[in-house]
Amino acid sequence: MSGRPLPYIGSRDDWEGGSVTPSVVCVLAHNAGAWTLDGTNTWLLHVPSTSKCIVIDPGPDEQSHFKAILAAAHLRDCEIGAVILTHGHSDHSAGAKSLAELTNTKVRALDPKFQLGDEGLTGGDVITIGETELQVLATPGHSLDSMSFLLPHDGSLLTGDTVLGRGTAVITMPDGDLGAYFESLERLKEQVATHEVSWLLPGHGPALSGPTDILNSYVEHRIARLAEVREVVKAGAVTSTDVLDIVYADTPEKLKGAARQSVKAQLAYLKHLGEFTTDEDLTSPLAETLDVKD
Ligand SMILES: [Zn+2]
Repeated sequence: MSGRPLPYIGSRDDWEGGSVTPSVVCVLAHNAGAWTLDGTNTWLLHVPSTSKCIVIDPGPDEQSHFKAILAAAHLRDCEIGAVILTHGHSDHSAGAKSLAELTNTKVRALDPKFQLGDEGLTGGDVITIGETELQVLATPGHSLDSMSFLLPHDGSLLTGDTVLGRGTAVITMPDGDLGAYFESLERLKEQVATHEVSWLLPGHGPALSGPTDILNSYVEHRIARLAEVREVVKAGAVTSTDVLDIVYADTPEKLKGAARQSVKAQLAYLKHLGEFTTDEDLTSPLAETLDVKD
């Protein structure tokens, strides 16, 4: 068998950032690529009842991008009061400390190595912004430190790389976890239903309406891919390369590094379930992905 083409997920629209909801505007970073789609989405959160705004995922450490972020804040007549991170991958975090120092503020993140100031960030935290709030949800899977941010007043949910504007998220090794990712998708579905969320605001690619359909498609996609990997393993595949060559045979070369990470994550999951045994180190990042920024 070979990998079957799975249904396209997400938006096919062009994406240049800009306002999506009354409280949130995207400043698109100019770091487009195979792993970053149109570039990193830096989200600026501002509500009229306060003069402070929050920057979510400052993106690359580039003055031109900082200028664009500051211009967006200026347009809304607000000052940057905090920088927070959905996760630590460098295409989201590299500029965090520089931007915080430039604006005399702090960085809050789950991983202490990205923190600047005395406050971390963890699932269950609530950040007050004027009369409204941002709720922090632990959504590990893409990476161990991945978090999503719910804005109940705005009907929006910032998903980092847990859900992308086009295509599907990669379970990155060494710290990605497919079992945790399935649980995180369920957590997001619950939040979307409970808070009547209308928009998913991803770390890359266009903002997405129809959150429940998108999240259901993500779960279905993962289950379908896993079924293919299971089938190949049952037929005798013993290494990640065997599986990659069959299940991801049609994947473009530039995305093979991402596909290999997904294969390893799926094999690690099957190993955890007792359906696969191997001596291969499924947790180690591969040379071909080491200088990829995400
Ligand atoms: Zn990432």
